[in-house]
Amino acid sequence: MMNNKKLIIGSHVQVSGEGMLVKAVEDTISYGANTFMFYTGAPQNSQRKPISSFRIEEAKKLMKNNGIDIDNVIVHAPYIINLANKNSPDNFASKFLIQEIDRVSKIGCRYLVLHPGSHVGAGVEEGLKTIVKNLNFVFENDNSNVIILIETMAGKGTELGKNFGEIKYILDNVEKKDRLGVCIDSCHLNDAGYDVSNFDSVLDEFDKIVGVDKIKAVHINDSKNVKGAAKDRHENFGFGELGFETLIKIVYNPRLIDAPKILETPWVEDLPPYKLEIEMIRNKKFNENMKKELLNLQGK
Ligand code: FE
Ligand code: FE
Ligand code: ZN
Repeated sequence: MMNNKKLIIGSHVQVSGEGMLVKAVEDTISYGANTFMFYTGAPQNSQRKPISSFRIEEAKKLMKNNGIDIDNVIVHAPYIINLANKNSPDNFASKFLIQEIDRVSKIGCRYLVLHPGSHVGAGVEEGLKTIVKNLNFVFENDNSNVIILIETMAGKGTELGKNFGEIKYILDNVEKKDRLGVCIDSCHLNDAGYDVSNFDSVLDEFDKIVGVDKIKAVHINDSKNVKGAAKDRHENFGFGELGFETLIKIVYNPRLIDAPKILETPWVEDLPPYKLEIEMIRNKKFNENMKKELLNLQGK
């Protein structure tokens, strides 16, 4: 009964320039995708254009006419937000997150993906406590329906959220539990030491500790590094250490069928690979010449 459900797939797209969200939807359509993920501005800074410049209504119309359900469209919070840092000046991270949630709510999306943060030397326990304290503050000051999806991380540096126990700690200790979910990232799981080639047992473990129903989005990236490398360098779908078959099993896993699958794979030179990657995924057939074909298509 689950197999006739439609695959929900898309990629990271840019929201910038004149086109803003309209351009993001146009790019999505050109990739043969039916959802997308975006940052509300540059991921590495906190400068944001006014919400009036996002062209929300035009974009929604375009989504509707092309079978893109806005409930499947994901926003990613900028990675400068570090809720695990006790010494964030004037509580900058939490305050910026509150503004970000407000933008997401005005755009009309349901889910905001957030990196849990890095403890920057304070230690795991201290860092996790700080995250919980800051999330409680955020939810005290925001009454929207936006759900924050805590992303599973690679464990680079002092990153938290590198194992399911740390994710559980956050979900268990935040007061407004209905405001939280999880986004898993296949590259990060691998880099954090999980054997994703045995994905069903990874999901079993997640289910025991956190609950598989909490997973509302899936980042489907290959990894440039071996299991446990704690590096976080994404590779194109099927071209890395995970490989095509493993990634396809993740994409089509029946337990995750309702979660949007999002590619955050690297561009090939200056070209987005998503159209060709989505083609491979829909055909369930690896195209080892994908990168070459992409460059040829553009006359390079
Ligand atoms: Fe992320
Ligand atoms: Fe990710
Ligand atoms: Zn990553």
